[in-house]
Amino acid sequence: MKIICIGRNYAEHAKELKNEIPTEPVFFMKPDTALLKEKDFYLPGFSNEIHHEIELVLKISKAGKHIEEQFAHKYFDEIGLGIDFTARDIQQQCKEKGLPWEKAKAFDNSAPIGKFFKKEKFDLNNIALELKISGETKQAGNSKDLLFSFDKIIAYVSQFVSLKVGDLIYTGTPKGVGAVKIGDKLQGFINGELALELNIK
Ligand code: ZN
Repeated sequence: MKIICIGRNYAEHAKELKNEIPTEPVFFMKPDTALLKEKDFYLPGFSNEIHHEIELVLKISKAGKHIEEQFAHKYFDEIGLGIDFTARDIQQQCKEKGLPWEKAKAFDNSAPIGKFFKKEKFDLNNIALELKISGETKQAGNSKDLLFSFDKIIAYVSQFVSLKVGDLIYTGTPKGVGAVKIGDKLQGFINGELALELNIK
């Protein structure tokens, strides 16, 4: 399986990192070795600035390529919550040199994933997501503020990359990203329901 991540999909987050609002989806990938299903995340030694990015995650349930937007909803059946951990210091260096971001985004365990729910449980245009750190809300957003909808993302990405069953799409993070530190306890919520827990070690 592979992990596809959408960047800059909430306007307020694009602004906080001083990025332009994109006119088409920005995407990048993480390998399967990035997936973390356990509850502990160990800060890697190569970065001094690992940022949390809480994101709604789609689980692909049907293989496809060149998927039309009107049929895209048939290609995912579950929605969950994940964190797109980002070595912001390294990403900044890559950006300045015009280099790819892989070192900052694709490292081991950089994609914690929580519980999944059947998508029928949700109004897809109104799903709240929230990240608390040690009880304090750090990020809060709603799928209604996505610049590119789930269907648009699937249609766009599948023009370039075939989707396979079990692939995950991290759909972008709302504003409020920041660094984590040892001892932090992260809790992610979908529509107020606890869906992800992680301890920073
Ligand atoms: Zn992200």
